[in-house]
Amino acid sequence: MRKFIDLHLHLDGSVPVATVKKLMQEHNLPKLSDQELAHELLVDNSCASLEQFLQKFALPNQLMQSKHDLETIVFDLLCELKKQGLVYAEIRFAPQLHTKKGLSQRQVITATISGIKKFYQKQKEDKNQPELHAGLILCLMRFANNEAENMETVKLAKDFLGKGVVGLDLAGAEGPIPNINYQQFFKQAQQLNIPYTIHAGEAAGPDSIRQALEMGAKRIGHGIRCTEDQELTQYLIEHQIILECCATSNMNTKAFDQIDSYPIKKMLHMGMRVTLNSDDMTVSNTNLSHEYQLLEEKTALTPEEETTLYLNAVDAAFTTPDEKIRLRALIQK
Ligand SMILES: [Zn+2]
Repeated sequence: MRKFIDLHLHLDGSVPVATVKKLMQEHNLPKLSDQELAHELLVDNSCASLEQFLQKFALPNQLMQSKHDLETIVFDLLCELKKQGLVYAEIRFAPQLHTKKGLSQRQVITATISGIKKFYQKQKEDKNQPELHAGLILCLMRFANNEAENMETVKLAKDFLGKGVVGLDLAGAEGPIPNINYQQFFKQAQQLNIPYTIHAGEAAGPDSIRQALEMGAKRIGHGIRCTEDQELTQYLIEHQIILECCATSNMNTKAFDQIDSYPIKKMLHMGMRVTLNSDDMTVSNTNLSHEYQLLEEKTALTPEEETTLYLNAVDAAFTTPDEKIRLRALIQK
């Protein structure tokens, strides 16, 4: 079985459809047909922007407000990822989005870690496949008046670092508020030795990537629009900055319009440190295996190039040296 690593996977965009159905039933929400549910959760070709794309997160977020629901979602997602052949995944979410029914950010994080632990327990029964290990990335949100919430997330990331949490991120609609406005939080993260990645160069252009770099990011979420700027591209190569590329998601949000010309292969050959990830499995109706297959078919991605993408992900992972040794050994088998 093929083995995969996903470094860029949003929990709220990847809630398995069966889990949404199960939780809706538990909450006595009106029953939706499969077609109606697909309309609520999945993007189609009419999606014109990142803003419209983000509307698909409304229903999942409604179902992510209690300890039980969060634990269930993480557990079900990990079971799904294991079936797909994942051996390591960094799953991200913003704790502050899950406090609408009274949970504290700390309780939100504890519930998701408990989902991972439950999965590890279950995984012990399955000796035939390599283990899937997971880490959590906590997202700060690009909102206007949430300094206190963002700072709390930074502090909690420190508390839970190495205990389920592996790093921080900045997410939310790109463009209206520039990345650099959030610099203070990442200065704090640097002081606390918390690894981080920042979403940039998806809906917003090369300048947003420059700002993320100025903020000390060594990993960029997406970053695909660096291709519009030669000088920036050169900088990314020289400094071996990791780009977390997500092909189908970029098509959905119209950051890129043609899968045939998706530049990941070209970027690899230019010496850029790119990785391939799924972003939002449910919203984009995809998974990592499908992403690889798509790029094999449309851009002639080769097995050697796929190995490089995997090894780039190992290097970039927010994990221990021992775990990296395990992950490298898995692909050499
Ligand atoms: Zn993302």
